[in-house]
Amino acid sequence: ESVSQKYDIMNDLMSLGVHRLWKEGFVDWMAPNSNQHLVDLAGGTGDIAFQFLKRGGKHVSIVDINEEMIKVGKQRKESCSFNNKISWLACDAEKLSLKNECADLVSISFGLRNVTNREAVLNEVLRVLKPGGRFMCLEFSKVKPAILKSLYDVWSFNLIPLVGEKVTGDKDSYKYLVESIRRFPSQESLIELMQSVGFISVKVRNLSGGIVAIHSGWKI
Ligand code: SAM
Repeated sequence: ESVSQKYDIMNDLMSLGVHRLWKEGFVDWMAPNSNQHLVDLAGGTGDIAFQFLKRGGKHVSIVDINEEMIKVGKQRKESCSFNNKISWLACDAEKLSLKNECADLVSISFGLRNVTNREAVLNEVLRVLKPGGRFMCLEFSKVKPAILKSLYDVWSFNLIPLVGEKVTGDKDSYKYLVESIRRFPSQESLIELMQSVGFISVKVRNLSGGIVAIHSGWKI
């Protein structure tokens, strides 16, 4: 809540704007079409939802536990232009107040790292997806090239909390961000978790040398 008003500008500052490319790459792979209903979990201020609708998706339900993030999202200009194609839902991704098999696609972008029980979220995803539906996750992951890893460690450990403090006045949230990235499972471990709850054809793509990764899996 404390960073919601500055959330979007902080994403640009921390990633030097590259989060926009990661999100575009994510929706590229999703390849929306005009029959699809997307449920975007931990949807925040709507970045993924707006991309999905810009590329012709039918409807998005944006789910976030944090009402302040939803409030900021609703004030964005894209929100007004796509008004009748968006439903905002303040709710925990671990216990979705959505009907069984209501979604063609479920996405979560920079959200799975933040939930308490990842397995519970993935089970909820399976419940709300239609048979043949797809789940996609965009999240920080493990950097592969050694040289990039050293630079990234310096940037993330030292600079992100400092920038966070200057811009939002809340250093702790950005220290948490860096720590949560370190604790999040590797590309391979997340594949295993997705397979263990029942997703099939699970695939991963690294972006920016593994700074982030996209996971995709299907419900039978
Ligand atoms: N998806 C957006 C994006 O890519 O910019 C926002 C990501 S932001 C880093 C993480 C979001 O997860 C926050 O808006 C937070 O409120 C939400 N969140 C954290 N725990 C959640 C939960 N259990 N259920 C739903 N949303 C949650």
